[in-house]
Amino acid sequence: MVPLDNTNKTVFITGASRGIGAAIARRLAASGFDIWLNYAGNHEAAKQVATEVEQFGRKCTLLPFDVSDEDAIEETLVPLLEDEVPYGFVHNAGIARDSLAAMMPRKDWDRVLGVHLTGFFLLSRLLVKSMLGKRQGRIIAIGSVSGEMGQPGQINYAAAKAGLVGACKTLAKEVGRRNILVNVVSPGLIETDMIRDVPTERVLPLIPLGRVGQPEEVAGMVNFLLGEEAGYITGQVISINGGLYI
Ligand code: NDP
Repeated sequence: MVPLDNTNKTVFITGASRGIGAAIARRLAASGFDIWLNYAGNHEAAKQVATEVEQFGRKCTLLPFDVSDEDAIEETLVPLLEDEVPYGFVHNAGIARDSLAAMMPRKDWDRVLGVHLTGFFLLSRLLVKSMLGKRQGRIIAIGSVSGEMGQPGQINYAAAKAGLVGACKTLAKEVGRRNILVNVVSPGLIETDMIRDVPTERVLPLIPLGRVGQPEEVAGMVNFLLGEEAGYITGQVISINGGLYI
């Protein structure tokens, strides 16, 4: 098998200034991909990731915008897409606004659904149009174990992540004939800012591997799914959770 040459291929990653997204950017740069790096507003962190991407000799374009904002998406991406169509799209941007369902304000439901699910719809709708013309592409949504098994306090987050599974399976069926592959990578507990307030000592006994995961362990799977050897994988949910949900 001739190894895939990733040079001159770009991957657009949302929420890549920190945590899992930043690890994905670094891993893909090491594999030879250029990066379009989206984030919400943390410019310093994003610039640091861009420097690391460039140290691999790859290009990194910083694209700060809110992934739930349709106007911002169009203003930023439409001009870029006229010049270049990314080979890959990884929807990783995420937030949590936890509380029990009975107490949850409507705005926390809307916001979490907006970033994870509506963001994926708006971005994949735009990107897939360009990918169809190229007859190639890889789309990966970062899901969550919460979307697979449910999690008290996360009705918004679990619903958004479960929604991504339905969205990706549907898209996989719609665009498979055009050689565009769509999958979900579903992490368990990964050591990032997002789990800062999670009482890990209570969760660790539920994880057969007895530890939280590292962002690089998610990034490795995303890198694989963007590679030539993953060319027959589409419509799948791939869990990286240390056995938390089996
Ligand atoms: P972090 O909180 O560490 O990072 C979140 C990233 O998303 C940041 O880059 C942030 O940008 C960006 N972001 C947040 N809101 C928006 C927005 N509206 N528009 C654009 N970018 C945004 O999160 P993680 O790395 O932990 O999580 C990454 C993904 O993995 C999320 O989808 C999360 O749900 C999922 N996940 C995480 C798990 C975990 O245990 N950590 C477990 C399962 C799934 P900025 O820096 O500018 O704020």
